[in-house]
Amino acid sequence: MSKEQAKTRDERFGEPSEQWKEYQGSPTGTDLTECQSWRQEAAFRMLNNNLDPEVAERPEDLVVYGGTGRAARSWDAYDAILDELRNLDDDETLLVQSGKPVGKFPTHERAPRVLIANSNLVGHWDNWEHFHELEAEGKIMYGQMTAGSWAYIGTQGIIQGTYETLAELARQHYDSDLQSKLVVTGGLGGMSGAQPLAVTMNHGVCIAAEVQPDRIERRVETDYLMDYADSLDEALANAKDALEAGEPYSVGVEMNVADMLEELLARDEIPDIVTDQTSAHDELEGYYPSGYTAAEADELRDEDPETYVEESLDTMERHVQAILDLQDEGAIAFEYGNNIRGQVKNHRGMDNAFDFPGFVPAYIRPMFCRGRGPFRWAALSGDPEDIYRTDEAIRELFPENESLMRWIDLAQEQVSFQGLPSRVCWLGYETDEEGITERARFALKINELVASGEVSAPVVVTRDHLDAGSVASPNRETEAMQDGTDAVADWPILNALVNTASGADIVSVHDGGGVGIGNSLHSNNHVVLDGSELAAKKARAVFTTDPGMGVIRHADAGYDDALDEATKSNVHIPMRDDE
Ligand code: NAD
Repeated sequence: MSKEQAKTRDERFGEPSEQWKEYQGSPTGTDLTECQSWRQEAAFRMLNNNLDPEVAERPEDLVVYGGTGRAARSWDAYDAILDELRNLDDDETLLVQSGKPVGKFPTHERAPRVLIANSNLVGHWDNWEHFHELEAEGKIMYGQMTAGSWAYIGTQGIIQGTYETLAELARQHYDSDLQSKLVVTGGLGGMSGAQPLAVTMNHGVCIAAEVQPDRIERRVETDYLMDYADSLDEALANAKDALEAGEPYSVGVEMNVADMLEELLARDEIPDIVTDQTSAHDELEGYYPSGYTAAEADELRDEDPETYVEESLDTMERHVQAILDLQDEGAIAFEYGNNIRGQVKNHRGMDNAFDFPGFVPAYIRPMFCRGRGPFRWAALSGDPEDIYRTDEAIRELFPENESLMRWIDLAQEQVSFQGLPSRVCWLGYETDEEGITERARFALKINELVASGEVSAPVVVTRDHLDAGSVASPNRETEAMQDGTDAVADWPILNALVNTASGADIVSVHDGGGVGIGNSLHSNNHVVLDGSELAAKKARAVFTTDPGMGVIRHADAGYDDALDEATKSNVHIPMRDDE
């Protein structure tokens, strides 16, 4: 991106919309307020929920999370989307291209109400450079994962995934617990801010470096972080006390994470676990170079983006080297889905960057093989009681699933709602005696609760794009696939197509989320449970085919867990070798 392009950035998005200033989040309540029926109203509420100042990181710039993940391309496009949703009929479908409404067609009642494609480029041109040129001209938008598909629910959306990842690490390396173990990491933003709470939920101690002081304060205010230290000395002293006492503890320290890791090495303070969740996937607008305060770095970015990028990549190189050195000294190291290894391998020729693993092959893939992934739902009423009723439904339906029961208790005790009350649970494919999957069973139950009035208004069920069968991302979700198909992107496309065929209410396909442009393709769905027969039919179809994609994708790659799940749950796989 040139200096000229950088300078015009702020002008591109326009002044924040008057409507957005009035809403300050999603409309709530049990009656339709804006649209003709709940499926359109749900899209309307979820888009505004994404841009709720309590939920989004920089909503005044339309940025929801993950560096520059946006919910709409400009404030004019946001206003236009809201108008289109207000006027959308029950048999029409709105098309959104990179955050801008571009068309509406008559379809049919069971079809999606909104179809979204964000940030996609043709392979040869699929890189940040070309993306930034187009973005500077207002022709494309970075949708991240859930930002551009209106499924972001704040830091609460990632917390169970982070918790489960660390719990699996504890099972593999320790006695299923992180008590008296020190985790050091970077980033306290939208998703990364979940790290300290996930560590303390596993009874461990966490030190997180973050360059933006307001981000540290925000995590303390929202109970994701316990403490704010003025220096690494103070953070280490407090952490050591907690480690000795065996107490959970988390602290944020305002410094560049690369500097912090080098300092720990110099002092021979080796943590038990080292990871990172700064926005390293984006060297210009996500990651901060060392040697500047955040404000100074922001100025450098505006004045001289080329120098910013070079310094940012230099810091990343030092950062990865420090992680490798800590690993050599005995720390357990893993990359937490920000593509920092890919960045230094590609841009700095660091061939040993992948000598520490990504979190998916290390801890998550066995769950993906069984179609298990981050299922989430939001109460459109805005009433927390609706979510507590759905928590009860989880307890009624899956009492034998001990870790799920423990999760619901922890979430109720420790996770504050942001914006629309929401919950996340990892549910999978596993069918019951009637052939209904875990996810479908739960969705059908919520639909019944809405129909009976036990839940006061419709509920939207959606998920992260980081799911079992919805993403191709060679440095993250599909890293080190055992059949070498890491980069095969037919799977997320099939996932979006089958979600559309099954009648999901919003279906989206994005490029780049999590790891940066050109590094991934992924898709998402929403189903609105309004208590109707139609919603039940759609839920049953979507929550069979969607997690089913995880089973067949991993079975096709030859994973035993996936083949076992396919056999147990009767998933038809043509040309299966062992049949
Ligand atoms: P964010 O941009 O909201 O937050 C990142 C934070 O890192 C910011 O607050 C920023 O100030 C801080 N930061 C950047 N460079 C730093 C440095 N050198 N030292 C200290 N602090 C620094 O992004 P997010 O939503 O928190 O996501 C973070 C990263 O994690 C992204 O790359 C994202 O794509 C990835 N991600 C991973 C998962 C997963 O499941 N593993 C899920 C979502 C996002």
